[in-house]
Amino acid sequence: MAKPLLIYLDGNLVPETEAKISVFDHGLLYGDGVFEGIRFYNGRVFRLTEHLNRLYESSKSILLNVPLTFEEMEKATLDTIAANGLRDGYIRLVITRGVGPLGLNPYQCPKASVFVIASSISLYPQEKYDCGLTMVTCATRRPTVAALSPQVKSLNYLNNVMAKIEAIQGGGEEGVMLNEQGYVAECTGDNLFLVKRGEVFTPPISAGGLDGITRRAAMDLLTEMGVRIHEVNMTRHDIFTADECFLTGTAAEVIAAVALDRRLIGDGKPGPLTQKLVAKFKALVNSTGTPVTYPV
Ligand code: PMP
Repeated sequence: MAKPLLIYLDGNLVPETEAKISVFDHGLLYGDGVFEGIRFYNGRVFRLTEHLNRLYESSKSILLNVPLTFEEMEKATLDTIAANGLRDGYIRLVITRGVGPLGLNPYQCPKASVFVIASSISLYPQEKYDCGLTMVTCATRRPTVAALSPQVKSLNYLNNVMAKIEAIQGGGEEGVMLNEQGYVAECTGDNLFLVKRGEVFTPPISAGGLDGITRRAAMDLLTEMGVRIHEVNMTRHDIFTADECFLTGTAAEVIAAVALDRRLIGDGKPGPLTQKLVAKFKALVNSTGTPVTYPV
């Protein structure tokens, strides 16, 4: 049996069997909380500051008082990785509104809870990176910006969960989520990019997708490669007629998508620009990041 993980929970590192949250925590009762997913490679955390910035912005947006300073959160993250002796993996940082009475009033929850899980992850098998993902257009729309901002990475992921169910039931691996106007927003856990005639296209963040940190990293790499990027509204038509499609996300990294609604995109194989970007992304994540200090 695998060694139990040590989980950071409100200031302590505890074995996973003891890392428990109350049934009265509003994170559980109402999805009232925020989270981040972060990767570390070769003992270095990728874009830690950007992830923590997004976590604190999500918290600020929902008026959630984070009981840790930015530096303390950074330390909790690095310490959790070190305590588990992990060199490559995934971190889940969660801040919940904390324990309160059954009513939804967050002002009756005196203290937010913070937990950090550092673990290994393999979202898709290698074969999917070699051959690409198939996608399905989801009936569930990405919520409008008039509802909770899509930039808040909240614990309420039910829209995306429903979209993922639709993708899988439709025979695909990822779901394309449209916004209320019918423009492509993003996938259920990734941002979407198209390649056409050597140029790259991606929906603007205002279309309702999350301002992905992998998205930004991919755009920086493409710019370095001299590729022009256009942030434009796009529809399914644009995906059907693209030469290549790829997705970006912390968990999925950079991965080709080769079909939508059973129609092949391009020739139905990961395209040359996507493959070049995947290689550049791998090199980047293995050579940068905040170092973890491991106990000797
Ligand atoms: N969109 C959604 C809905 C997500 O959950 C994620 C994963 N955080 C992304 C996009 C990709 O963002 P990032 O590259 O920061 O992981």
